[in-house]
Amino acid sequence: VASGTERRIEGVCAVMRERNLDALLVSAPANVRYLTGYTGSHGVALLTVSDESEAHSFFTDFRYETQAQEEVGKAFAIEIAPLDLFGVLVKTLEGNGRLGFDESHLTVRDHTRLDELLDGRFELVCAGGVVEHLREVKDADEVRRIESAARLADEALQRVLEGGLAGRTERELAIELELQMRRLGADAASFPTIVAAGAHAALPHAHPLDVRVGTRELVTIDWGAVYDGYCSDCTRTFASSEPTALQREVYALVLEAQEAGLAALRAGPSGKQVDAAARRLIEDAGHGAHFGHGLGHGVGIEVHEGPRLSRLRADAPLRAGNVVTVEPGVYLAGELGVRIEDLAVVSEDGSRVLSSLPKWLTIAS
Ligand code: ZN
Ligand code: ZN
Repeated sequence: VASGTERRIEGVCAVMRERNLDALLVSAPANVRYLTGYTGSHGVALLTVSDESEAHSFFTDFRYETQAQEEVGKAFAIEIAPLDLFGVLVKTLEGNGRLGFDESHLTVRDHTRLDELLDGRFELVCAGGVVEHLREVKDADEVRRIESAARLADEALQRVLEGGLAGRTERELAIELELQMRRLGADAASFPTIVAAGAHAALPHAHPLDVRVGTRELVTIDWGAVYDGYCSDCTRTFASSEPTALQREVYALVLEAQEAGLAALRAGPSGKQVDAAARRLIEDAGHGAHFGHGLGHGVGIEVHEGPRLSRLRADAPLRAGNVVTVEPGVYLAGELGVRIEDLAVVSEDGSRVLSSLPKWLTIAS
């Protein structure tokens, strides 16, 4: 269990006291993992606070008993329950009060069942985002894990590039990249690998096709590894042979915007402001309508988490310890797509990029 676990639990308890919550049900697997260390699929945590004391429990069923004993931090009493964990969970709640739950995760069915079992003793209160907000700021151990995942993913891509791009199908390239990541020790790919060539790359989330990469095409590869429970995320766009003037021009624009986004990245400005720093350049070049997604997102236990770098989000300032992507793109339908994505740790005076691959337009024939 990570050394930061106690600090994480303290952080959650402080928010619970602020919001007058007597108990908090933590049910989303990434949040359960963050607080307890448990990596299994079926398990929930219940944190309770009173004026003086705190008591925390972890509930799972018999299939995960051994795993829970090995993984769950000692701040939690482990309770082995029947498959329906809520019956036992409700019995550990004494008296009455307010029980927070995650409204973006708990199903309506589970909410109804919980409410019945509580029988009016506890009021169910929406408390989503409490753990996610803490997760946005990574400690040194988490940054190390993300950096390891990024290094591993970079190494895997380099191995794939040795075989060249032209003449191989998008699907073959994606499969080989995932295989190389697994061979290098990744638990999994952090999301389905994107390999998209030519006009297909104009779809930002293209699924690899059984189509061979041709000559004079740009090829976008977006990939990441899960290592030690943490994700990486990176995108590079390559040329399959000598690029055309249009390919060079769009690539240079996206790279300039990406560098401007990285230069604006530090604690203080909002994700919206950093997004604007990059977007402005793409808009000024007349391609604003061809950059339809946000500039970036947080990465950690989940590959897409807070904070978001987006013009659509609230103006909360970025914090030191945020780990975010900076990934502008320009997508010309029927023609080409370019996206360049780095992963970076935010600090008080700037950021440190965790992706190591070069960003000049590389010909990978
Ligand atoms: Zn990506
Ligand atoms: Zn991304």
